Amino acid sequence: MRPRTRVESFDLDHTKVRAPYVRLAGRKEGPRGDVISKWDLRLVQPNRAEIPTAPLHTIEHLLAGYLRDALEGTGAEVIDASPMGCRTGFYLTLLGEPDAEAVRIALVEALRGVTLHEGEIPGCAPERCGNWRDHSLPGAQAWARQVLGDEVIVQETIPLS
Ligand code: ZN
Repeated sequence: MRPRTRVESFDLDHTKVRAPYVRLAGRKEGPRGDVISKWDLRLVQPNRAEIPTAPLHTIEHLLAGYLRDALEGTGAEVIDASPMGCRTGFYLTLLGEPDAEAVRIALVEALRGVTLHEGEIPGCAPERCGNWRDHSLPGAQAWARQVLGDEVIVQETIPLS
């Protein structure tokens, strides 16, 4: 069996992008005109690095709050921010379609939140998380600092030729 549907991200040339970046990965308009936008938040260079599961998981828990905070005032609302299986970044799904620069600024601000976070990891408890032992706040902060050491850019989609 094979899936019938083509998937956008498999047509992105992952060898030609330059991380860290934000990229508009897709948009959908509902029958009443509401727009959902999907963003590729690439933290590390594909096929050159990958974030280990514990730091990635902690970044996920922290971005859940810090991205929502950072996008306040853009008119967009976070539906979801989830790590990619390749562990090089996150997909961010928004109700609304802010411009890429606003998403870029929000990502930088949210990652700064990760580096400055104090106290407990939000949601890090067996009742609140599916693998609560697999977390690392120092790891998350080190990776976020490393990402912010480079300029986060707006990346255009480069299709496979
Ligand atoms: Zn979790």
